[in-house]
Amino acid sequence: MGWDFSTDPETQVQLDWVDAFVRDEVEPLDFVIDNPRDTRDPVRQDLIPPLQEKVRSQGLWSAHLPPEWGGQGFGHLRLALIEEILGRSRTAPMVFGCQSPDSGNAQILARYGTEDQRKRYLEPLLDGVIVSCFSATEPQSGADPKMYVTRAERDGDEWVINGEKWFSSGIQYSEFAIVMAVTDPDAPPYSRLSAFLVPTETPGIHVLRNVNVGSHQGEPIHSYVRYENVRVPAENLLGDQGGAFAVMQTRMGHARLALATRSLGLMRRALDLMAERAVSRQTQGELLAQKQLVQEQLAESWVEYHMFRLLVLQTAWKLDELHDFKAVRGEIAAVKMMLPKVLGNIGARAAQIHGSLGVSDEMPFVDMVTSALSLGVADGPTEVHKVTVAREVLREVRPAAGLFPSYHLPAERDRARAKYREVLERHGRWT
Ligand SMILES: Cc1cc2nc3c(=O)[nH]c(=O)nc-3n(C[C@H](O)[C@H](O)[C@H](O)COP(=O)(O)OP(=O)(O)OC[C@H]3O[C@@H](n4cnc5c(N)ncnc54)[C@H](O)[C@@H]3O)c2cc1C
Repeated sequence: MGWDFSTDPETQVQLDWVDAFVRDEVEPLDFVIDNPRDTRDPVRQDLIPPLQEKVRSQGLWSAHLPPEWGGQGFGHLRLALIEEILGRSRTAPMVFGCQSPDSGNAQILARYGTEDQRKRYLEPLLDGVIVSCFSATEPQSGADPKMYVTRAERDGDEWVINGEKWFSSGIQYSEFAIVMAVTDPDAPPYSRLSAFLVPTETPGIHVLRNVNVGSHQGEPIHSYVRYENVRVPAENLLGDQGGAFAVMQTRMGHARLALATRSLGLMRRALDLMAERAVSRQTQGELLAQKQLVQEQLAESWVEYHMFRLLVLQTAWKLDELHDFKAVRGEIAAVKMMLPKVLGNIGARAAQIHGSLGVSDEMPFVDMVTSALSLGVADGPTEVHKVTVAREVLREVRPAAGLFPSYHLPAERDRARAKYREVLERHGRWT
């Protein structure tokens, strides 16, 4: 198996195009559009669709999807290199048709939706015309879906949904939500929950309030929702009854890797800004760059960034080799486990080196740290990913045969000496 860290020339041409396009056309949108997924915003509606067209004409639209769903079938490594660039701008995923949670919801609908549902919801979602919501977390439980209590009960040809959901991001401008609800309360814990396609125009969906992350000034988008006698047709059950865990897995693998690849773009920017500040700012008669403790922060950030980037890209490469998310679940968990730590560390150091400017809202670092806190919770808390990594580490490990470890130095030494006894004896070292 060869190791090659170079980028092939064809991909490099594409990456150069993405890099220039994001810098010149997309990043400025971050300053004029509050929320790129809010299709009600006329400024957003004027500015984003023409850029989406340009992305399509370059053959880069929805690059994460397989060709049969309108994607490009690039493979995970090439995708990771593209998403790394997109990560510099919060508008870029929408412009390139790979924003969350729509990308995962599209994968769910493609796999479990009826033909009608695919026509009505999947096609416009893939075209970037509508957006969607993933409605799973509840006020009393997020990380443990076995504790969800929202109910869906069958009534003739319909399902009737009742319950409350917390942090259903963007439901106010979504065309539909994928809702997790208990259909079989007496079944074993992993078979109680089912997934439903719920059009948001259905009567009975009440947004109790919207919540913001940190001190974000824009419209709050994370909704506390009550579903009150929300009726959907029987065919809106996605996958098997009691099969919500399998449905949720459909979206997890790529989604988690994408969170990491996009964060690489932010980390790189913070690193560059730290370095620029260090050679620009003077204190006590010398540049910050000449202070050893500042150098330490630069060096640690650089190393953490590159170690993390290698882990992310190697995971993407393994996915391309093995075509199996299960086979790399340990690596994906490791990536998700390290992401908040590395992003938070680099963001905090960048803020520190920029002093008061760094912690102000005139620089992006506090948002990076807040984002790291969110990433430590969303899509599975860090603790859970650590458990997965440990489980993978231990998967093939067997207990030592004897009282002492299998690599016990005295035993190893005896074996080595026995092997070379003749030589040792010749030189008088066999005692
Ligand atoms: C920015 C953002 C956007 C989100 N968007 C959505 C969305 O669109 N749709 C949606 O449904 N949800 C969304 N969520 C919610 C997210 O999925 C949940 O926050 C996550 O599942 C954790 O659930 P919780 O917040 O209830 O935390 P809890 O489940 O209460 O966990 C709290 C803490 O307990 C600890 N913990 C939990 N489990 C374990 C364990 N097994 N071992 C050790 N410690 C543990 C961890 O420290 C964890 O952070 C979003 C969250 C954020 C931050």
